Amino acid sequence: MNDIQSKDLIELENLITAYGESKFRAKQLFEWLHQKMIWDYSEMTNLSQGLREKLNKDYPLNPVKILKKYISEVDGTIKYLFEMQDSHIIESVLMRYKHGNSVCISSQVGCRMGCRFCASTLEGLIRTLTPGEMLAQVYLIQQDIKERVSNIVIMGSGEPLENLDLTMRFVHLINSPLGQNIGQRHITLSTCGLVPQIYELADQMSQVTLAISLHAPTDEKRKSIMPIANKYTITEILQACQYYIQKTGRRITFEYALMSGQNDTSEDARCLGERLRGMLCHVNLIPVNKVEERAYQGSDAPRIEKFMDILNAQGIQTTLRRKLGADIDAACGQLRNRYIKERGE
Ligand code: SAH
Repeated sequence: MNDIQSKDLIELENLITAYGESKFRAKQLFEWLHQKMIWDYSEMTNLSQGLREKLNKDYPLNPVKILKKYISEVDGTIKYLFEMQDSHIIESVLMRYKHGNSVCISSQVGCRMGCRFCASTLEGLIRTLTPGEMLAQVYLIQQDIKERVSNIVIMGSGEPLENLDLTMRFVHLINSPLGQNIGQRHITLSTCGLVPQIYELADQMSQVTLAISLHAPTDEKRKSIMPIANKYTITEILQACQYYIQKTGRRITFEYALMSGQNDTSEDARCLGERLRGMLCHVNLIPVNKVEERAYQGSDAPRIEKFMDILNAQGIQTTLRRKLGADIDAACGQLRNRYIKERGE
């Protein structure tokens, strides 16, 4: 990985000292890139002209651009489309909460997990983002709104555990006190449940909030909506989650998108509650967002309420995710798909 925005301080030190410069220049460079969020060598005025020229030649900065912005009139949510150097497009969302600004970033262009209700996976995986491209989404949004971002959710397009090393590199960079200093506990990583990587994440003593896209109480039902269920059973996922809790002390979030007639019956709720009973966890319900190319419909309000009551009665903490930005296109991947379609690709 050669993009300089993805390098940690030690790598920058090696790179800077190889030029015969003193080590503290690396810290200055790191602060430009990650604290001031300036991705243009010509502005890095405390570095010598000579060094800036060498850097520019060997490590050209390839900034990501804001391509389009959609602002919700309902709740101030902003959806961004970004264009990368190779002209691929990704999307991110800024959500404003009482407790601060939260950004939902993409980890890949497209996705190969194939969940049947999801728009991001319709065209498969195009490529994984570099840590620098993940950072760019947060930095550009902060610069755009001129406010601090306090929380990050890695819940946009892509499966962040498919490339755990790149995702964790992003986490460590955004976590750095010399950069944005966003604590791991303010970062949520959402996965469809790649079991070996959950163990690996636990062994790294991660403090990020792990969110598992469960969406079904039985393997049979899960297989009908999520191909990954053919690879890992719910039991295996829950065992990995127990290990994560034991190692890190962190509570797990289970995401459950309610789809009318698929996974939203009282029996589904009871079965889910039984499986999760006694676990340090929390269930986040969300009515599925209708995706044009997909058949699934969100459950209606009475059903959602009933589902929630049954879980709560079983002692499972359950919340209903507030729908933000409903007027500016819904689930992850939809905005990008619509834009590409309209552009006529
Ligand atoms: N690959 C990761 C993260 C990206 S998806 C994962 O699977 O968790 C982020 C979340 O949005 C997941 O819970 C996913 O299942 C959910 N999601 C995808 N499409 C959706 C839709 N149409 N409606 C509601 N949630 C959806």
